Amino acid sequence: MALRLDGKALAAQLERELEARVRAGLGQAGRPPGLAVIRVGHDPASAVYVANKERACGRVGIRSFATHQPADTDQQTLLKTIQQLNRNPAVDGILLQLPLPRGLDGRALLLAIDPDKDVDGLHPLNLGRLLRGEQGPRSCTPAGVMALLQRAGIALEGKRALVVGRSILVGQPMALMLQQANATVTVAHSCTVDLLARCREAELLVVAAGRPGLLGAEAISPGTVVVDVGIHRQPAQREGDRGRLCGDVRAGEVETLASHLTPVPGGVGPMTVVMLLVNTVRCWARSHALDPVLPELH
Ligand code: NAP
Repeated sequence: MALRLDGKALAAQLERELEARVRAGLGQAGRPPGLAVIRVGHDPASAVYVANKERACGRVGIRSFATHQPADTDQQTLLKTIQQLNRNPAVDGILLQLPLPRGLDGRALLLAIDPDKDVDGLHPLNLGRLLRGEQGPRSCTPAGVMALLQRAGIALEGKRALVVGRSILVGQPMALMLQQANATVTVAHSCTVDLLARCREAELLVVAAGRPGLLGAEAISPGTVVVDVGIHRQPAQREGDRGRLCGDVRAGEVETLASHLTPVPGGVGPMTVVMLLVNTVRCWARSHALDPVLPELH
């Protein structure tokens, strides 16, 4: 039976470690870390994500600067909001909650965020820093996967890793981070020929295809470490039911074959949120010349 890579438990542990670091650094810094989350419009899922992030900030001692703008806010107004937050010395991290309402140019807005406050790690400069192996905020979801693997003591050096998915948000930075940890990395995508054969060759499989239940027993060799990044809500079975969450992997089939498996929910999701806090506290520590925060994590 696969060992469960419990992201919920590790995220709680990392929150405690961050809270202690914030408490210890308050005297020297003279203020708590600050995270600004910009939400535009009324996407219900975004409202839940932002509320979760704010609660998590509260637990760690990060001050939240929430900005909620109406759906018809224009590009210029949002640019001004970002520029003000860039200049605000109490704000260490800025996050633009995606997706944005139609008509807004998300790329231009992400580009306007000060790269040193880009706690989502999506600014081209930070993606470039990752490519070059230089310091800088790392994309939260793949950084969360790396932290899970690291704290579980899973050695990556020399491992055959397959990343399914090549998005800028997950697949591409994931592949770079695994490569930097000296894994031998293959990236699969929608045009990959014989995906199942590629999967069966892998010793570590990270699945971020955004396809519910894409891979099952047929894709796993015994002893593989399986990380399921996908998250989907299944159709409700009964009226009033919300429908269960599932991933890109059919967990029930894989758990008897894999050596380790991330659950959905409770695997990669909580790690994504906690890495946002890690990035914020790191930016705060850097700007106050405090010791590096959780330097052993990527
Ligand atoms: P995305 O932008 O839609 O990218 C999906 C990638 O998967 C693309 O590169 C696509 O290939 C590839 N792909 C799609 N179908 C495939 C198939 N049948 N075989 C092989 N590759 C296939 O999605 P994303 O933003 O990376 O997110 C992926 C999943 O992770 C989603 O379910 C998302 O909800 C989830 N997610 C979870 C968290 C979390 O915190 N748990 C965070 C972020 C994302 P092409 O490039 O060829 O189109």
